[in-house]
Amino acid sequence: MEDNHNAHMRRAIELSKHGSLIEKSGGPFGAVIVKDGKIIAEGYNQVIKHCDPTWHAEMEAIRNACQYMHSPHLEGCDLYTSAECCPMCLSAAYWAHIRHIYYASTVQDALKYGNFIDVDILSELRKDPKDRTITFTKLLREEAIEVWKEFDRMDDKCWY
Ligand SMILES: [Zn+2]
Repeated sequence: MEDNHNAHMRRAIELSKHGSLIEKSGGPFGAVIVKDGKIIAEGYNQVIKHCDPTWHAEMEAIRNACQYMHSPHLEGCDLYTSAECCPMCLSAAYWAHIRHIYYASTVQDALKYGNFIDVDILSELRKDPKDRTITFTKLLREEAIEVWKEFDRMDDKCWY
């Protein structure tokens, strides 16, 4: 009997191949979400096809899994991704309450074979904000906080 983990990862790799080599929708990134041993959602990179820098395989798989579960949270779900998550997808996994992440190729592989800059972004996040490539300026905090205060007072606010 084939190990289910390998079977799920092979599906993620197959999706990465479809997107990058056949459909040419984006880079070689594929992902699946598994619950109770069953694939409930899939995704592959379609950044080029949709002119959308956020259309990563994991983001699509998480979106599709959330639709399937009718919830913004994927309790008890595992993510299988053909390539180590970028910071955006890793953050999305945290927001979605993903239980565990399995990955195949590494961010170093993505840099070596595709010139994908996940490594650079990861090092940016370790920097002091004032030293990052994208600069930050805080503006109108008091005005923004008025909305926060109103939100905090609402009896029927949407918690998640
Ligand atoms: Zn990503």
